Amino acid sequence: MARPGTRLIISTLIGALIGVGGAAGLAFAWDAARQGDSALHEKLHQAVPLDPQEQLALDAKERAFAARRAEIEARLRGANAHLAEAIAANPSWSPQVEAATREVEQAAANLQRATLVHVFEMREGLKPEHRPAYDKVLVDALRRGSR
Ligand SMILES: [Zn+2]
Repeated sequence: MARPGTRLIISTLIGALIGVGGAAGLAFAWDAARQGDSALHEKLHQAVPLDPQEQLALDAKERAFAARRAEIEARLRGANAHLAEAIAANPSWSPQVEAATREVEQAAANLQRATLVHVFEMREGLKPEHRPAYDKVLVDALRRGSR
């Protein structure tokens, strides 16, 4: 079981990643998740200038993350299309709408998880002296997102 502190950090991270307003808009959940995820990821890349050795270590991980993200985003788009179809067929809280909603939520959660895994993967590739600057950008972004 996760410690309470860990759970708080994770929920803050998720709030920051998908955006406070975006979390409520199911039809737009995938888009909010995608944009929040990209914004934080970009910010972290800009946080610390990588030396050539760090860049090399990161390149393969960046490619793997880009592929994983593209795959999840495709699933998010599919889930969003299912939700649109279910609502078009029957604009009520039907079992089909509920199932499609779960599909959207699952895909958005997978995107957030994959992004966090990559965020820590990037951190591991940094030299110890570069990590405090990286951590500061990460924590500041999450604190802003949690307000
Ligand atoms: Zn990255």
